[in-house]
Formats: sequence, structure tokens, C-alpha cells
Amino acid sequence: MQDLKDWHSQHSEAVLKQFEANPERGLSPHQVDRQQAQFGPNAITKHDGDGPLKRFALQFHQPLVYILLSAVVVTLALQEWVDSIVIFAVVLLNAIIGFVQESKAINAINALSGSIKSTATVIRDGVKSTIPAQQLVPGDIVLLQAGDKVTADMRLVKVRDLQVDESALTGESVPVEKNLEVLAKEALLGDRQNMAFSSTLVVYGTGVGVVTETGDNTEIGKISEMIATTPTLDTPLTKRIKQFSHVLLYAIVGLAAITLLIGYLHGQPLLDSFMAAVALAVGAIPEGLPAAVTIMLAIGVSLMAKRKAVIRNLPAVETLGSTTIICSDKTGTLTKNEMTVEQIYSGGLLYAVSGNGYDPEGEIQAQMPQSELQSAAVDPSTQPGLYATLRAGALCNDAQLMAPDTQNAQWRISGDPTEAALLVSAHKANMASGSLNAKRVDCIPFQSEYQYMATLDDVDDARIIHMKGSIESILPKCQFMLNEQGACVALDQEAIEQQVERLAAKGLRVLAFASKATSQEQSTLSHEDVAGELVFLGLQAMIDPPRPEAIEAVAACHRAGIRVKMITGDHALTATSIAKQLGIIQPQSAGKTVTGYQLGDLSEHEFSDIASYNDVFARVSPENKLQLVKSLQAEGHVVAMTGDGVNDAPALRRADIGVAMALNGTEVARDASDMMLTDDNFATVRAAVEEGRGVFDNLKKFIVWTLPTNGGEGLVILLAVLLGVSLPLLPVHILWVNMTTAILLGLMLAFEPREKGIMERPPYDPDAPIIDRILMWRILLVSSLLCITAFGLYELELMWGATEAQARTVAVAMFVVGEAFYLFNCRSLDRSVFSVGMFSNRWIWIGIALMMALQLLFTYQPLMNDWFQSAPISLEAWLRVIACGWLISLIVGVEKHLRGRNKTSQATSDTNTNRVSESV
Ligand code: ADP
Ligand code: MG
Repeated sequence: MQDLKDWHSQHSEAVLKQFEANPERGLSPHQVDRQQAQFGPNAITKHDGDGPLKRFALQFHQPLVYILLSAVVVTLALQEWVDSIVIFAVVLLNAIIGFVQESKAINAINALSGSIKSTATVIRDGVKSTIPAQQLVPGDIVLLQAGDKVTADMRLVKVRDLQVDESALTGESVPVEKNLEVLAKEALLGDRQNMAFSSTLVVYGTGVGVVTETGDNTEIGKISEMIATTPTLDTPLTKRIKQFSHVLLYAIVGLAAITLLIGYLHGQPLLDSFMAAVALAVGAIPEGLPAAVTIMLAIGVSLMAKRKAVIRNLPAVETLGSTTIICSDKTGTLTKNEMTVEQIYSGGLLYAVSGNGYDPEGEIQAQMPQSELQSAAVDPSTQPGLYATLRAGALCNDAQLMAPDTQNAQWRISGDPTEAALLVSAHKANMASGSLNAKRVDCIPFQSEYQYMATLDDVDDARIIHMKGSIESILPKCQFMLNEQGACVALDQEAIEQQVERLAAKGLRVLAFASKATSQEQSTLSHEDVAGELVFLGLQAMIDPPRPEAIEAVAACHRAGIRVKMITGDHALTATSIAKQLGIIQPQSAGKTVTGYQLGDLSEHEFSDIASYNDVFARVSPENKLQLVKSLQAEGHVVAMTGDGVNDAPALRRADIGVAMALNGTEVARDASDMMLTDDNFATVRAAVEEGRGVFDNLKKFIVWTLPTNGGEGLVILLAVLLGVSLPLLPVHILWVNMTTAILLGLMLAFEPREKGIMERPPYDPDAPIIDRILMWRILLVSSLLCITAFGLYELELMWGATEAQARTVAVAMFVVGEAFYLFNCRSLDRSVFSVGMFSNRWIWIGIALMMALQLLFTYQPLMNDWFQSAPISLEAWLRVIACGWLISLIVGVEKHLRGRNKTSQATSDTNTNRVSESV
């Protein structure tokens, strides 16, 4: 017997025989059960990307951690055991928090992306159905078509122009053309053209395969350990923080050197100077920042998931907040994708179709051309043109219409809604697909770049080519048309185009139908066969109502300074009408609808003008989409682009945020995306942008809150060194403050609700500094205030006879309490605490309560007193600390208030000047 694994060196018949699989009927339920018991589910055992050990080790590979580790060494050399232990403990704790948070974020993203399951189209027991890929078994007959992900290894038994992108497996980015030839045993993986491998993507054509291997036995399963990917956690913000920490590294080393020098000049013992240098270093480092950023972004991921946007790339959370343009599909995203044929045109006559949705209750009535008047129902069998049009729609069709049953009270469809609508209209004329005496011989499936579909059918003993598609793709191929009596006459192109325009202008999606008789010898269908000499049969026009929530979402985006551009393969007039209903084109807007044909021959400069000026793009090709993204990005825009087809993948990859559809999109598009919509709805993109802005706001608040701690601590140490007095804070104190407040106070900002009016302001400018001048001043102000109060209280306590330990405990309390008060200021960066609502984020209060409990332990617990060289302090000391904290908060509040007033007065004067310039 041949080696079972060498499927490519066997004839496909032989492979089918080994599995006892019938390529037309597939496996029987009994066979499926048996195989399932033997091979288990079709799933690959999960492997982590970077091993956990490596990821943990990487936590130490950061410049600022090096400083802390050097501090450990220095304190060890100085035999300051407690300090070395505490500093090391902090480094360790930080690494653990960072590691845990990273793992959580990675797992969350993997779980979310994994929650959208791959499916496979199989034939089992003679029935075609879509099943979760997990349920595939060896021997299953799988149908492949452009856009699918191959979900098991299979030997191909039929191909039609099948091209597969195998880069996930072989790294080769040029798609491989498949065929059925038997290959030599030695053929390498990349050369096995008669096989399709799990995890590769079908980018063109169709095929049928018999599953040979599943789960870990697939080629991808065998190497999954090597290629398992960890989602990237680097975002523009974390990258900037990394850059910032490099700068900080030099600053700290420099300052530490200066501290040593000054201590030396003051004639202080070397030990003290070293401790001061260490204190300065640990004080200036925002230890909690990197972990906090990851945590906040991860929270954003789960918030978005709740609103039906699944993030596949962490950076997208942040980028969403800066989105300036959303390019959206029309069909399905802005509209409901629930198609209903309303009008039919054939043989010079216009018909109206009654009824709603997919329920085939309704009738066809004759309508006077150019008027909306209707007469009585007609019998389609007496109207040759109408009959031929409806029949072409029913046969040139891959959708299914399902009657209500015990589980579903309504008529349902499977497949393309455009095609389902044609089944419904035929059904209304008593031409349910089963009732036609027809059998399909071959088919060219619909592809957006051709805009048509064609079938070769045997109907009542004749072999006929049926074709349907956009008017632009069908009409040029037609030479004749059916007249009222059903006779073939010369084509009246103008009359037909006029009808198309009338129907499309109402927002209807218009499909044209054509046919051609052929000989019994013809058994396959190619694009050449349908290139000309067709007979035009008629038009069917369907409504696809806009989603009501999309209308609202478009308006919300406009208020938020985000432009919405509709990009569609549909007719220009249909697109324009729908765009008007959605508010994408407003009565006063000057932009026009641009078609892909017009975009074709433009210079780069003209293209960029047109791309940014207009909002509706019809009959666009995937290349146009990519060009649009590039051009808008070159203008400095942050572009989100939705897409569902195979050919959208390049545009999705290129866009700042590629958005794919989880319900109706192809796997290829999902693979290229940063975010998936689990409801395919435009309103969800808007929701994700809103959450993205909220997350970015909170990150910014955290940074503005946390940096003054480091600034204040650094200043205190510098001041003490300059004045040559004892240090108000020891390194252990500084670490205590940094770690506890970052977790218990700062992180609570992650739960800050989105600010009112978050969608009423322009998007974040991705190139602007995160901390602008105003916030920089505020950070310096608070740093100075913390330094002055802590240093002042420390010296006062000493003056009033407190011990050094007590005075230092007061200084530590000052930082903790000051940061707690300042936390309220940071709940909004420009509005006052009171307008935010004191109690609108209860986590703030929980955090403060816990922080105070810890601080009391720090102050009064003997063991803590030992470890941290702290000491109990008096109630009066506490009251002074609280008063100072309150004062800091008050000063920042006043500063914010003054700035707010300035801003509004500036804004009003701006609008005044505008008005003046307008009236001039
Ligand atoms: P969109 O999804 O943006 O409306 P498509 O690329 O899906 O654009 O469709 C473009 C055009 O191709 C449609 O306007 C229609 O005329 C035609 N078309 C769409 N679906 C089919 C189909 N299943 N069969 C034939 N033609 C179709
Ligand atoms: Mg479509």
C-alpha cells in the first residue's frame, strides 16, 4: 500500500476511494460520525508565541528597569539591605504586573478573534451546507470559492481558475495556481498544486476538495509551534513612551551624577550622596506607566467588544480615537442588505411587484411606463419578457429561500441577499426554483471585478446561457432584446438606459438580465462565451433600505469632525440616492458622486483633490479603494476603511484601521483587518470610535496625573541635595508612593466614563504631542506644589521637634494625599470636578479608601515602621497634610477654570472674526 500521507502523488480518484467518499454526495452521516470518533475535532493545539519565560524576561529589558537594577547593586554595595530588597521587590512586582497584564491582553484579543469561527462549505449526504470548520473530518467534500479560508488539508478533485494565497504556510506571497495533476512524491509543499492546505486563502476561482488531514495533522498544525503569532501590543503611544523613557534615562543618569557631585562639594559622606542619587533615580521613573497603558488599552478592547466591535490589533484601540475619515461600504453596512424587488422592466413594459421582505406573498402588476399608476395583477406566463427575466433571475442564482418551519416563523434565506430577492420575485410569479424544469451544467460565479454572474442551464430540452449583473457589464454584450411579444429585435440601448436611470435615481439597485441559446455540445462556460451576442431580457430593481441607526451614526460622525465616505460597487445614481437618505450628501454640500471609471485616468494630484473633496464613490474597483486610502493618508488623514471581499484585503491592510464584517465578509478580508464588526453595522464603527476616544482620554488623564508624582519627588531630592539637608524621602518611600498610588489611585481613571460631548469635538491629531503646552504647565505646577508642600511640611515637622522618621512619614503622606486630591482634577482635563460629578466614578472612591487604609498601615503598623523607617504621626500633622492636599486641588481647579474661560472667550472671538470676514 502507498504511503497514506503522500496525497499529492495519488490520483484524486484514489484518494476519494480511500475515504469511500462520493464527490457528488459527500460522506453519509454514519461515515461522518465514524471519522469524528476516530480523528476528533479539526482544531490545532494552541501554542503560545513567545514562550512565557521569554516574555517575562523581556519585562526587565527596559532602560528604566536597568536604572532600578543599578540602584539595587548600589544599595547592596552600601549594605542598605532594606533598600535593595524593596527596590528589587518593586522591579519584580512591576515585571509580574506587566507580564500578567500583557498575557491577559494577548489572551483577550486571541479569544475575541477566535470567537469568530471559521466555517466550511461541505457536501454531506447530498446536501450542501455551511458548518463550523471544527467539524470537518477526513473524507469530507469541501467547496472552495474566492474569499474562503481553507480550513483543512485537502486533495483537490475539481478546480476552476483556483488560486490560493499560501503565504501563511510557505511565506510565498504570490498566489499559487492550482490544478489536478498527479505529482512526484518528492514535490515540495509549495509545489503541491493539487492540494489545498489549511490556513491558506482562496483569492480567485472555485474548487472542490476531499479533506485528507485535519487538526494537528495538517501541514500548518505540524509547524504551528514555529509560527504561532502573538498579537502586537506596541501602539503609537507605547512607542512614544519608550522613546520618552530613553530621554528620561539620560536625564536621570545626568541628574544622579550631579547629585553625587554636589554632595561631594558639600562635603557629605559618600553614602548619603549615593542614597540621594538612588532616590532621585527611582523617584523620577514612572514605574507604573507602561503597565497602566496596557491595562487601559485592554479595558478598551473589552468595552468595544461589548459594543460589537472586535479588536484584532491592540494599536487599533488607540488609532480609533484619531480617525478622521471613515470609508464605508454601502450594501449591508450602511443599508440593511435586505433586498426586495419592487419593479421589473421588460419588453418595453414596466411592472410593479408587491409584498415585503423575503416573504414570497405578493403579486406582479403592470404599470404604465413613466407613471406610477397600476393596473390589475398580470399572469407572467402571458408576458414572455417578464417570464424570461424572472426565470433568468431564478436560475442564475446560488441563494436559497427557506419556508417557515417549526423553529422559524419567517421566510429565511441563505446566500447573497441580492440573489435571494430574485428568488422571491420569481416565487411571486409562481416560479419557485424547484418548479422550473431546469438543471445547471456550469457556472461563472459573481465576482465584483466582472460585476456579473453566468450559468449554463438545461431548460426544457434547450441549453441556454443565463446572465445577470450590472447594466454596465451586461448591456455592451447584448445585441438583441425581447419585445413585448417575446420576439428578438434589435437592441434599443437608449430606452433601456433611460429606465435604469429612472429606477436607480430612486435608490433602487438595478440588475440586468440576458440570455443566449447554445448547442448541446457546450458543457463548460468561460468569460469568452458570454462576451457578446446576448439577448437582453429585462431589469429587476430592488430596494435595500438604509439602516435607521446608520443615519444617526453618520450625523454623529459629522458632529465629531469625522467625514464619512461611501464606497460602493453599485450604480452611481443608486449610490447618490442612498447617500442622500443617509445624510452623507447633504443638500448644501457641493461634492458629487464620482465613479470608478472617472477615477481611472487621473493624475495623482487630480486624484487626491477628487478623493478628498467628494464623499460618494460608485462602481469602484478594489484598486480604486486602495488608491483612495493611500491618497487620503497622504493628505494626513487617519482612515478607517470597511471591506468584505477578497480584493478589499490590500485596502484593509493599508488603512489605519481595516474593518471587516464578521457576518457576511470573507475570511480573507477578516484576515487583513484590525477590527471586525460582529453585526456588520456602520453604527458599530461609530461606537468603536467613541470608545477609542474615551480610552485615549483616560490614558492622557493617567499620564497627566502620574507625572507630577515623579516630578515632585525628583524636585524634593534635588532641593535637599542643593541645600545640603537631609533627604525628606528615602528611596523606599518613593517606591512605596509610586507603586501604591499608581495602582490604587491612577488606574481608577481607566473606569472614568466617557466625557459628555466626546463626539462633539474633533479627532485627536496623531502627530500632536500627547502632552501639550497647557498640560505640561499643569504637570510642572503640580510637581512644584507637591515639592513645596512635602518639603515644607518635612522641615516644619523637624523644626517642631519631630523625629526624622516622623517628618519623612509626613512627607510621604503629603505625596499620597496630594495625589488623591489631584486625582479629582484629572478626571477631566478641562472641566471642573463638579461638572463631571463627584460620584460618577465610584472606583475613584474605592481606590482612595483602600489607599488611605494602606497609608494608615504604613504609618501605624510596627512591622511597616520597621521596613520603611516610618513612624506614627499626630492628627494635627494629618490635618495639615489634608489641608495642603486640598489647596493643591483648589489651585489646579482655579487654573483650569481660568484656562476654560480664556478658551471660550477665544472661541467666541474666533467665531466673531469669522462672521466679520463672512460679512465683508
Ligand atoms: P456593493 O456591495 O458595493 O453594492 P458589489 O461589488 O457587490 O457592490 O456589486 C456591484 C454590482 O454588481 C451591483 O450593483 C450589481 O449590479 C452587480 N451584482 C451584485 N451582486 C450580484 C450577483 N450576485 N450577481 C450578479 N450581479 C451582481
Ligand atoms: Mg456586495
